[in-house]
Amino acid sequence: MAVDAAGKILFCEKMESTRREVAEREAAKHLANLGERPTDHDEHVSLTNLDAVRPLSNDTRFTSKGGRAHFTINDFEWVDLGPSRLLIPGFVDAHVHAPQYGFMGLGVGLPLLQWLDKYTFPFESRFSDLEFAKEMYEAACARHLRHGTTFCSYFATIHVEATKELTRIARDMGQRVYVGKVNMDRNGAPKVNYIETTKDSIEGTEDFVQHVNDMNDPLAVPVVTPRFAPTCTPDLMRTLADISDRETIPVQTHMSENEGEIAWVKELHPECDSYADVYDSHGLLHERTYLAHCVHCSSGEIGLMAKKGSSVVCYFRCLSVRLLLSLSLSLSLTPTPTPKQLGSLSKLQFCAVC
Ligand SMILES: [Zn+2]
Repeated sequence: MAVDAAGKILFCEKMESTRREVAEREAAKHLANLGERPTDHDEHVSLTNLDAVRPLSNDTRFTSKGGRAHFTINDFEWVDLGPSRLLIPGFVDAHVHAPQYGFMGLGVGLPLLQWLDKYTFPFESRFSDLEFAKEMYEAACARHLRHGTTFCSYFATIHVEATKELTRIARDMGQRVYVGKVNMDRNGAPKVNYIETTKDSIEGTEDFVQHVNDMNDPLAVPVVTPRFAPTCTPDLMRTLADISDRETIPVQTHMSENEGEIAWVKELHPECDSYADVYDSHGLLHERTYLAHCVHCSSGEIGLMAKKGSSVVCYFRCLSVRLLLSLSLSLSLTPTPTPKQLGSLSKLQFCAVC
């Protein structure tokens, strides 16, 4: 799958040799039906020029059954890519903070917790304004698609209506999405009104999950999204785990990105053996959980994640990839840097090979 210059999604099937012959025959037939002869450089219709197809309708969505897209060759028209365009599968970014698009690159020199206080929380608080949220989310989704990222797992903000808008905007643009309303009922930023009560956080999550379920769109999935342990009380974490179980939906969060953060979690949860244990003891570590960063995880924590079937999304100073894979831990590596990492080319290069 790829996206053309106009942001339209193109689909392609990988074809083996026998299927290639069938496809070429079908393509020739299709052109004949249109009253056209193949105009390629020889008598045969070359796959080189016929391996990209575009939906006949402007609506880039397609139906799916059992999680698999199903369509026939007649649903598409052939598009000649010409000699200079390349068709590649769409990129998947398993960890994106959609609102942070608005301050990309700011505060790159600050440690995580100060960066959250100075830039992230004040900026994310502005998404209570739905018009502002729409403007930002439209720009963020369009930018992702322009760069070929056809599937994102988004963190939004604590605001329910804005999170619904993010889902709608992404789907209207044809992007496949996992989306989470962020949960924060402690250690937020009361000065800028960026914190919620436990009750509001739970009700808002239920509302958002119901909303996405009602969309009945297989390419939009709600995700339980506790920002990270320091911003979620034990009661909230337990209830979010219950929602994830009841709805059979994923959980996305952060873990062990920064040493200051780890020390803080230890202070908040002296009863737990480790950061991973905080999530596990509140029911949030399971096979649908994917945790971002995990830079400083101990071998015990990695073993726990592997045992629970959880996944790691990492980039930039990440854990040993070899170690994770040796434990059969699902792993998503993303070359997409966070806004903080956009500060220098050397960091980008590092991200690209992480
Ligand atoms: Zn993050």
